Amino acid sequence: MSVRIFIEAVIIGIFCFSSAIATKPQKRSLNMETAIVQDGNWEVGKENTVTFKFKPLQDVPRKTKHPDEAQIYIDSGLVLVSGLPSWSGFLEKGKEYNITVVVRPSYGGKFVLGGGVDASLAKIYTDEELRKMEEEYDKKIEQIPEFKKMGMRGKFPKKTFFYHNDISTVVDVRGEIPAPDTAWQIIDGVKWRSGPSYSPVPVDIDGLAPLKVDTLKKIEQEKSKETIKPERSERSDGFFITGRFRYVNNLGIIEPVKNCQVLLYHRGIFDTTWVLDYPDVTDDTGGFILITGFPKVKLEFRSFNGAGIKAVGLIFKTDGHLDGGDPRNFHVWTVTPDSLTGDTQVPDVLTTITNPDIAGAFRLANNILTGYNYAYAVNVDSAPSLVHVYWDPVDASVITSYGGFTIGGKAGIIIQGRLVAPLGSGRDEWDREVVLHEYGHFIMDEFAERADGTFGPHVYHAPPSQPNQIDGRLAYFEGWAHFFQAAVWGVPTLEDRNNNNVLIIKIDLERPEPDVPYIDSLDFDDKEQLVPSETQPVYFAYDVEGSVTETLWDIFDLSNDDNYFIGPNLYGHNNDHNQNDSWRGITAIWNVFRNYDPAPADPGHNNVWDFFEFIRGWGARGYPIIGHFADICNSHGLYIKRGDANFDTKILLPDIVYLTAYIFNNGPAPLTVCNGDATNDGIINLPDVIHLVNYVFKAGPAPNPPLC
Ligand SMILES: [Zn+2]
Repeated sequence: MSVRIFIEAVIIGIFCFSSAIATKPQKRSLNMETAIVQDGNWEVGKENTVTFKFKPLQDVPRKTKHPDEAQIYIDSGLVLVSGLPSWSGFLEKGKEYNITVVVRPSYGGKFVLGGGVDASLAKIYTDEELRKMEEEYDKKIEQIPEFKKMGMRGKFPKKTFFYHNDISTVVDVRGEIPAPDTAWQIIDGVKWRSGPSYSPVPVDIDGLAPLKVDTLKKIEQEKSKETIKPERSERSDGFFITGRFRYVNNLGIIEPVKNCQVLLYHRGIFDTTWVLDYPDVTDDTGGFILITGFPKVKLEFRSFNGAGIKAVGLIFKTDGHLDGGDPRNFHVWTVTPDSLTGDTQVPDVLTTITNPDIAGAFRLANNILTGYNYAYAVNVDSAPSLVHVYWDPVDASVITSYGGFTIGGKAGIIIQGRLVAPLGSGRDEWDREVVLHEYGHFIMDEFAERADGTFGPHVYHAPPSQPNQIDGRLAYFEGWAHFFQAAVWGVPTLEDRNNNNVLIIKIDLERPEPDVPYIDSLDFDDKEQLVPSETQPVYFAYDVEGSVTETLWDIFDLSNDDNYFIGPNLYGHNNDHNQNDSWRGITAIWNVFRNYDPAPADPGHNNVWDFFEFIRGWGARGYPIIGHFADICNSHGLYIKRGDANFDTKILLPDIVYLTAYIFNNGPAPLTVCNGDATNDGIINLPDVIHLVNYVFKAGPAPNPPLC
């Protein structure tokens, strides 16, 4: 008789953030205890009980009398036997709630269990509104070939809530695991795809010739080989082998695998050993062309992170169908066009990956590579170094972030895998914005500086609220990452999609309605900014990452925009008229980002840490502040004010002291003439000091016009 011991496995939903971790933008969450309780003993066919417990530790701020909602989420492969997986009601502070279900695994492997709570309804969209939003979204997609090719479509949730909390855990189910769509075998510890017509021989991957970074860049720029037409080789003894390497994305759309290394091995008729011939790299269509004179060849497809290759991204701690954590081989796929008698096109069926986990890895890698190529093109004198990426398709326990681990002193990127919750934000490997946002943080570490106090959870439209975060620095740090991802693709959106490909965060950087920071927390639903704006900023814009993001975008973009009105009411703030300015685009922004030293005497502070410093750097690098640049900053609440001599947005005694020191004691000059010219006569002199004294101490008139 065997004694079975049940261990109560409880996962408590408390996240600890070290000072190094920067996350992607979060939905706001409530102060809440959450836990998933299950007995930890999972077997195929055997029923198991799962309870999701949640207890709010605060009152819920509400705008409507709509009930809150909660749900327990079970992975596909787990069958719901009994119990209601959802709850709805009004959350009360200090009260504990439970959702219990019984589930049965239908096959073995790792499965995610999750629970989510949505509180304080923001809006219920009518079917008509949803249809309109989705149509509008699809129209935008139509204009962007890359997105169209990806098959992106508008899909929005019907309800949005102001607060979201979730928790998830992975359980290991004993029993048979279904066969992957790729048949693998392991020979001498090396994983190979099985094939009927050859016996693979492991090759020394450390011996491969390095692929030069220059090559990758060149390929990206040339965009050559648009069509592949194998033609009979000139060489009498040679054959062309062509094909396209592609993957099926999570929408079922086929995407090319760009910059994938294709290795050609050959052997003679009587030889038993495969010999590496040479590598090619797939082009933008995933296409490759190789030539060989040997009658038997084998092709191997590798992601560009193979050993010995100067890689731009190194993805590891993978799972399932990927190569169990070996950072050097996250995918190797071998095909054998055997008994070669002439030019051969490798059929699609052999070069198309349908396994979503492998395809996700390639999608992730392609996004990193796109960011790499962009940063390299901007910063021509040096390429970004290798970045480490942690991604595991079933690891929902990590949070997408930058700096959660380091290798060799370099911070790496964590990308969250599957999170079953419909409102959760997992499967980030498919989100180009999310991946490139984290890569934007890496680029800041590579080419500029990350300031202290830039870590932890944050939201787009309001200052951060965690202890020890330094608001203005975090706003610049995150604003830069948001801007970078938009600049790489030249598309002014910020999106995060959930596991069901529904948009859970969608922000338009170009036409915010209303603009941050003119919007109160309870008017912002992470999806559409539809509530008319306040006339005065609610938050101090230098502390708001959205203000920094949209300002950088407006400096960068080519189109002119005005403020938005509904009738007579100011609805969105934008005064962006730099279409004809030579400094628009990425070069000037990069020059300030990379090359401005705000504190020359301090060796630990050689780059911009917040947006005050960015504006100072803009002037220091010789770009004009007054004019369109100041218009853009002012319209996003990043004020540059007449009479604000010490440039801190406030006009107080220190400005009088600063201006006096400048005029009489050779003190430092104000940021611009406007900052010192309180009288608006075009020169800085004693009357400006007198004007400020009258304004600050004697209720005299304010400097006019107030903004520079
Ligand atoms: Zn971030």
